[in-house]
Order: sequence, then structure tokens, then C-alpha cells
Amino acid sequence: MASRARIGVVTDYHVGTLERHGGDEPHVFLNARYVRAVEAAGGRPWLLPPPSGDPAGAEEYLAGVDGLLLTGCGRHLDPEAYGETPRFDLTLMPQAKQALELALVNGALAQGVPLLALCGGMQSLNVALGGSLIQRIAAEVPHALEHMQQDKATNPAHPVTLVPGSILARLTEAETLQVNSSHTQSVGRLGRDLVVSATAPDGVVEAIEYTGPVWAVGVQWHPEYLYPADPAQARLFQTLVAQSKARVPARR
Ligand code: MN
Repeated sequence: MASRARIGVVTDYHVGTLERHGGDEPHVFLNARYVRAVEAAGGRPWLLPPPSGDPAGAEEYLAGVDGLLLTGCGRHLDPEAYGETPRFDLTLMPQAKQALELALVNGALAQGVPLLALCGGMQSLNVALGGSLIQRIAAEVPHALEHMQQDKATNPAHPVTLVPGSILARLTEAETLQVNSSHTQSVGRLGRDLVVSATAPDGVVEAIEYTGPVWAVGVQWHPEYLYPADPAQARLFQTLVAQSKARVPARR
């Protein structure tokens, strides 16, 4: 039986979700939609929790997977990671998660591990390569759209225009997409060897991709809520799995 590509999926980490356990127990967790989207695309999800104080964790994780999915968690990178101080009251992600994501991006690109980065994961892709973030779209982008939709994420919130000839335009075979939007930050200065592949009507960067020899695409929206209703969104996961599948013989 053919082996499925192992797709490492970074989990979230949170303290204090179950009151009956005292409300202060750390939990690793993940919206199951990410896992189901990988499965539906023919991949085998392998969950990667942020390691506690282990800088070697990213290297060991990378050695065990064929591809990577960076997920969104609704919390922010420390602006120090891109050489800034906080201009707003940000909700920072745990240091272990930030360290893991940034190390995974650099390790994946160095070792040829394909990478799909969603929402906050796309921001990690950019920052890991030396880029910066717009810390609060509503305050720092003139005439910005509402990027924090209030209705269900299965409902698209705004269009994005794709850059012709980009990886994203070719794999979706689209010029525009209708996407959901659940983010307060976005890409500012682009990281090295990255290009923009989609923008919102207000100019906010909605997708980026790597120009080097490794397949790496980031989108600011949540395709795990839009597939399978929108086949173009399913193709993001299918392409990640196909790119990763090519690495299976090398790992075994
Ligand atoms: Mn948006």
C-alpha cells in the first residue's frame, strides 16, 4: 500500500481551558478542520506540539515529516521578532510556539520540506525570513476593510486579487477568490525571497510565496473552512500533499 505523505501540523498551546481541572492546566489543542483538510487531500496529519524549552525540537520534527502545515492561533508574534516594540495591546502567543514556528520555517526551507502557512502561520513565514507585520490593520492601513469578520468562517468576507502567474494563481486557476477574514495583522515589509501573490481591495497582503527551490505558500485566510465548498481552496491542501509526497522515498 502506498505510503501517505506525513504532514506535520503545528498545534496551539494554551493555559486554562477546563474549569473542572482548576482552569490553569496547559493544553495542546487544534481545530480539527486542519486535520480533516489534510486527510481529505490524501495526507496523513502528524501533530507537532510546541516543545517545552527544547531548541532541538524543530529539527527532530522536520526529520519525521514530508511537509508542514502552519496553522493560525488568533494570537500574535512578539514584535521583537521583527525588530519592533508593540504599538498596541497585542495578545502574544506562548514563546515556545513562536520559537517552534520560526525554526520550522527556516529549517523547512533549508531542507526542502514543502510548507503551507495559514493565517498567523503566514505571518510566521514572513517574519522568519526577516519581514515585518502591520501590527493593527484598522489603525495602520488607511481606508481598511473589516478583516475581522463576525459571522461564520465558512462565509467569505472579502475578495482577493491574485497575481497572474503566481503559484497561487496557477494552482487555483483563478484571478480572484472570495475568502474569509479573521485577522487583525498582516504582512508589512516582505521577508527575503518572498513575493506577494494576493491582495485585498484595500491593499492588505493576503498571500505570499517563496521564490526559492522549495514549495512554500502562505495565505492570510482560513481555507480549512472554505473547502470543500470551494474546490480552489481544497487545491491548497492537495498541492501541499502532492509536493510532500515526492519526499516520501527520501525519508524512508
Ligand atoms: Mn483579510
